[in-house]
Amino acid sequence: MRKMAAILLSMTLLLSACGGNGGTATTAAPETTKAETTAAETTAAQTTAAETAGQEGAYKPGTYTASAQGNNGPVTLSVTFSEEAITEITIGEHGETAGISDSAFDKIPAAIIENQSLGVDTVSGATYTSQAILDAVADCVTQAGGDAEALRAVPVEAGADSASAVLKDAQVDVLVIGGGGAGLSAALSASQNGASVILVEKLSALGGNTFRCGGAFNTCDPERQKDIPMTEALSSAVEKVLAHEDVSEEHAKLKAEVQKQWDEYKASGSTALFDTPEWHALQSLDAGDYEGNVELVRTLTSNTLDTLNWLSDNGVEWTDQVSTVVGALWNRSHQTPNNSGADIIAALEKNAGASGVEIYLDSKAEELVVEDGRVAGAIITNADGDKVTVKAKKGVIMATGGFSANVEMRVKYNKQWEDIGESVQTNNSPGATGDGIVMGEAVGANLVGMGWIQLMPLNSVSGGGISGYVNSSLYCNKEGKRFVAEDQRRDVLAAAVLAQTDKLFYIVCDQKEAELRGMTPEVLGYMVQNGLIYSGDTIAELAENMGVPADALEQTVKEFNEAVKAGKPDEFGRTTWENTIETGPFYAPSFSPAVHHTMGGLEINGSGEVINTDGEVIPGFYAAGEVTGGIHGTNRVGGNAVPDALCFGKIAGANAASN
Ligand code: ADP
Repeated sequence: MRKMAAILLSMTLLLSACGGNGGTATTAAPETTKAETTAAETTAAQTTAAETAGQEGAYKPGTYTASAQGNNGPVTLSVTFSEEAITEITIGEHGETAGISDSAFDKIPAAIIENQSLGVDTVSGATYTSQAILDAVADCVTQAGGDAEALRAVPVEAGADSASAVLKDAQVDVLVIGGGGAGLSAALSASQNGASVILVEKLSALGGNTFRCGGAFNTCDPERQKDIPMTEALSSAVEKVLAHEDVSEEHAKLKAEVQKQWDEYKASGSTALFDTPEWHALQSLDAGDYEGNVELVRTLTSNTLDTLNWLSDNGVEWTDQVSTVVGALWNRSHQTPNNSGADIIAALEKNAGASGVEIYLDSKAEELVVEDGRVAGAIITNADGDKVTVKAKKGVIMATGGFSANVEMRVKYNKQWEDIGESVQTNNSPGATGDGIVMGEAVGANLVGMGWIQLMPLNSVSGGGISGYVNSSLYCNKEGKRFVAEDQRRDVLAAAVLAQTDKLFYIVCDQKEAELRGMTPEVLGYMVQNGLIYSGDTIAELAENMGVPADALEQTVKEFNEAVKAGKPDEFGRTTWENTIETGPFYAPSFSPAVHHTMGGLEINGSGEVINTDGEVIPGFYAAGEVTGGIHGTNRVGGNAVPDALCFGKIAGANAASN
């Protein structure tokens, strides 16, 4: 299972995990109900079957094995039966994402055995994994001569499959709503600043999108960036942004500061990469078409390194390697050893718990409580389905993430894409339904930037992936040709992919690049064997397996290698170059864009306080992370979301605690 976890980590790096494939059993469930059977007849038949299930002689004793389709491929398990009962369920090989699927693996088998039922509810946030477990156990029941349909009708004791503590009415200093990166960061920070804290998470697991993402964290970091060379192409990128006309006084001021730093840098004769918090801010503003709030962007980029170090102090490890994650535009993306946001969540969860934060899963905030014009708490549906009230003396921090998984909201607000409805997948957590935006708006919060929705170009179609970095990436279409500068903004990349045949593209790489990105031969072998990526010993063989013209792909790779060696902007304007593609075997996963991030949300100030429609602070109300708007403008820079959530979470937590 560790092997499969590694594969999934590589997929999380591509920010494309859990794209929403349905959970289909590899063995069809036996049909027991005729279509024309009436509802009453069906109920009666099920009741009788439920009564007979579990009687002596119901099963042929033994251990049976089956697989069913989960979120990322087959989930295999074994079930042991006595004559009258399911006695043991052992999870075998699977490719489900650790952390997201953990609660399903913990809860569903236990609940099946405890209730001798297949009517167990799926675990929220891990629906496909849950369904795969239920389907595979059903298959084993059939193999053992049992009646799977009857077991589905056996009632399950309420709450029997829920292991987490149940929230009651409470009074606390700070209430944090949402248990992703922003929420955990806010909770830890508030607690470290002396506040008593309750955090509620509506799903059965913490983490949200932060857990699923590659965890890329952009920050200027002179120590880690000192060996990265400054090329002519990168210099031209700085000059281009500095040449942009002034759009506001704040922008002009920021630009003047960067110009001064750039002049000093050039005069110093340094050959190391140029970077400063101000250049990071200016580049982020430029990439969002100057729709971002300059104060917030500067707050972000001047706090990233501090926050990275604070995370290190709290157990998050960072590698020494700094790269450019897709859409990051500059070599400042930091990574954890596993290239995974899960590493960050695990450390925050551990430290928040140790610091005394009370965490409640399966607990959904429904509405905010306002008393005398101040946000004073929230009404929560707890894990038992009861409504309880949590009062927060010092503040409520909204950290519920974005609305990528809410098609209705996407369609309502979208002003960027021709189609953002049902037909467009999302690779986000099912929890990203915009709840905090709705709750915030109901108490007068101003919404900003709601029309800007990010499509992530790298949503896996073939099922696997290798590298989400652009440094050595070659993107080609079904005709075997490059079609865009791979180091471009995500909105530009997504629009370019949507214009290609079947709205699809491939990332071509070689063995050297795969190894550089931490792919072991075992993981690569698994992906090739299971058809998750294409491969070939030569470019021609790879092309044949991909179904693209071999001569075109050979020519494309040849021209790409020449451009790497030249290191200059190419015909598409690409400025980031690192390694050539030469050492076989060669690999190519395929991708198509999916909804990935919503840039709009609650307006905040630099202290994380929520602003109302009259431009005033709403007392007691803070927000952080993807639920907020106004930072990323029209297009969020790749690798800026995690620092956004964690920096503003830390700021909001500290400020709420100091009330
Ligand atoms: P961010 O990066 O801003 O932290 P994430 O997507 O990582 O965003 O985390 C947001 C978390 O908030 C998710 O785990 C999501 O399930 C949770 N959440 C969303 N709505 C609610 C709600 N109404 N009550 C409690 N938790 C919620």
